[in-house]
Amino acid sequence: MTSAAYLSREGHKVLLVEKNKECGGLVNSFERDGFYFDAGVRALEDAGIIIPMLNELNIQLETVKSPVSVGVENEILHIENLDSLVKYRDLLVKLYPESEGEINEIIKVIRRIMKNMDVLYGIENPVFKDLKHDRTFLFKKLLPWLPKFIFTVGRINRMNMPVEDYLEKFVKTPSLRDIISQHFFKNTPAFFALSYFSLYLDYFYPKGGTGELSEALRRKIIECGGEIKTETKITGVVADECRVIDEKNITYKYDNLIWAADLKTFYKISEIAGLSAKIRKKFEISKSKMLNNRGGDSVYTLFLEVDEPLESFKKIASGHFFYTPSKLGLGKTHWNELNDLLNNWEKADREQILVWLDKFTRLNTYEISIPGLKDPELVPEGKSGIIISFLAEYDLFNKIQTAGWYDEFKSELEHRILNVISGSVYPMLKDKIITSFSFTPLSIENRVGSSEGAITGWSFQNPVPVINKIQISDRSVLTPVPSIFQAGQWAYSPAGVPMSILTGKLAANKVLKRIKP
Ligand SMILES: Cc1cc2nc3c(=O)[nH]c(=O)nc-3n(C[C@H](O)[C@H](O)[C@H](O)COP(=O)(O)OP(=O)(O)OC[C@H]3O[C@@H](n4cnc5c(N)ncnc54)[C@H](O)[C@@H]3O)c2cc1C
Repeated sequence: MTSAAYLSREGHKVLLVEKNKECGGLVNSFERDGFYFDAGVRALEDAGIIIPMLNELNIQLETVKSPVSVGVENEILHIENLDSLVKYRDLLVKLYPESEGEINEIIKVIRRIMKNMDVLYGIENPVFKDLKHDRTFLFKKLLPWLPKFIFTVGRINRMNMPVEDYLEKFVKTPSLRDIISQHFFKNTPAFFALSYFSLYLDYFYPKGGTGELSEALRRKIIECGGEIKTETKITGVVADECRVIDEKNITYKYDNLIWAADLKTFYKISEIAGLSAKIRKKFEISKSKMLNNRGGDSVYTLFLEVDEPLESFKKIASGHFFYTPSKLGLGKTHWNELNDLLNNWEKADREQILVWLDKFTRLNTYEISIPGLKDPELVPEGKSGIIISFLAEYDLFNKIQTAGWYDEFKSELEHRILNVISGSVYPMLKDKIITSFSFTPLSIENRVGSSEGAITGWSFQNPVPVINKIQISDRSVLTPVPSIFQAGQWAYSPAGVPMSILTGKLAANKVLKRIKP
């Protein structure tokens, strides 16, 4: 959408093709029975990217701050500013008094990373600035910032190891390590995982839901003369003839194509027979790298319509809440047990899986979002909509579906989550639920066509098959085919909404360069 908005603004003929009824993919909100829910991302982080993009495109988006609370067992902290880090330290010390030294070390690292984050996102991303005309930005902000940026990039690259390994070096208490890191994707680079405190302070929320960002971009594309074709799934790319084909066998010719969806799909459906031998060779190398990789963790989400006013929840935590009901942490044994189950699936019976599920739901960390606490217009008077989610393993849901008890498993899971959450932080949930429904990793895969239901692109468990260094992010949008570019969460790693937008802009820039050399 970012690419389409920029290219149509420049007066080019743009067609955005989207398989769903609505645009925006994982940045989407929907309404049910008068309750508004966010289907994907729960709140946005600017990261020096989203606001500059909106400003540059002259898009007005009404937003509010989206404050975060963090809770473990009965200890809940509302994160308000930098000083909250000290309170976070105290919270951890209260829970793990014997590990005070280790906690102090963790806080020191988080503080250092926050300083680096201030540099990294300290100025508006120059990709969204007109450097030729905005001399004040160039000389007063960008040039003084560059040396600090280069130094920070060095630091980031030195902290590229998985957060689990990084923490293991100086945190000997396994449950403390878990509490710090279990709500991140497996093997997230340490710098990005431990930058969460900065991100907690950065979250904002568009009035009307996160989907309003996509809606605003959609309107901009139309206003600039771009065309959007929804409910149209691309099923073939004929690269040597510069055309794509949809499910109904309709062909669309292009001069330049930006592929902003799943990259495994792109490589699987592309035909390159007529391209030069050199391009074909490069394409096959990329293809094999992509197809041998996996999407990262997915998510399981439970949506609740609740007959209880927002005020009851507001007294406990803010509208974006990371809550861990037990300080024990999931631990390595949990992952080993899950892997054992998955690797010996034929021998695993339902009982074993449900026993594992009991433990998983008791010890996990939940991301709980209450849209009405950010924008009261998102719920009927006197009621609350609640979104409860956690990272989930695609293979588990896939195997269960194949085994034929997907719906039963979903209701077992819903049941357990409700027991855990109403038995701990939100006791008033009991007996107040009007309706509940859930999305699994398979729903995500179906809805946005994302490999393994991934929500932020590639898994960190193998070397990623795309650019992962910020200083060369410009190259992340190139594919082996000169007229085809890639953008979005699969084009760069680590990704999320800001990087998807940034790559969208970078891809648009490359197209503009090809059109006007
Ligand atoms: C629960 C949750 C929480 C998250 N939290 C955060 C967070 O805190 N911070 C953060 O930065 N990010 C977060 N993310 C991730 C973020 O939402 C995504 O990384 C980002 O939105 C990806 O955008 P994208 O445009 O690259 O891909 P997508 O959103 O997947 O969009 C791809 C689009 O292409 C369409 N499409 C796919 N295949 C085809 C086809 N063959 N033909 C036509 N159309 C097709 C899809 O329908 C979709 O609309 C979260 C995501 C989820 C689900």
